[in-house]
Amino acid sequence: MQVKADLHVHTTYSKDSVITAKELVFYAKKRGLTAVGVTDHDQVEGALKIAKETDFLIIPGTEVSSLNGHILGLNVSERIPRGLSAGETVDRIHEAGGIAIACHPFALFKGSIGKHASGKFDAVEAINASAFPFSRATQKANQLAERLWLPKVAGTDAHYALVIGQAYTLIDSEANVEAMVKAIANGHCEPAGAAISLSMRLENQGRFLWKYLKKGKTA
Ligand SMILES: [Zn+2]
Ligand SMILES: [Zn+2]
Repeated sequence: MQVKADLHVHTTYSKDSVITAKELVFYAKKRGLTAVGVTDHDQVEGALKIAKETDFLIIPGTEVSSLNGHILGLNVSERIPRGLSAGETVDRIHEAGGIAIACHPFALFKGSIGKHASGKFDAVEAINASAFPFSRATQKANQLAERLWLPKVAGTDAHYALVIGQAYTLIDSEANVEAMVKAIANGHCEPAGAAISLSMRLENQGRFLWKYLKKGKTA
């Protein structure tokens, strides 16, 4: 079977996200997702708590701030220390039973890993819906995956709920965490989705302001 998962979502357990567990499940279901990877910055507590509290399929993960840039660990249930080299971080993720993904490798202003990505990783995030500038970052990430012969995945890097599922990965797998991460590492997956649109950003940045602007246009 094929499952649909947004592999990169932050919750209120990340200081820069406003997504609650309730919202996460609501929007994930609305978007027809099978699973969501909860990947808060340098911790796993939120992911584990949400996985326990809900019947929705949560892939516990973390986004590690390595010395060389951000790295996603999926199927990780323990905190991976920040500040280690990219190579050491990937090793720690593997030791914890997870897979390591070079997320938004070429996005600007995101602490991206760029040339420190290597064949040690299990996959490259070829589409990150929050990446800026989107086209260039996506093109370079795809090239990186091809150069390293690594599977391509996609995620939204959502920090507010209504964008969940804007980018997602189609995985040929049963709907359980172990099978899904294994399928990704074996390349039985495909990235899909698009950039977060301007209207989504505006809607989030102030529903009031957005309404006001629309009114102004039609008046
Ligand atoms: Zn990041
Ligand atoms: Zn992120």
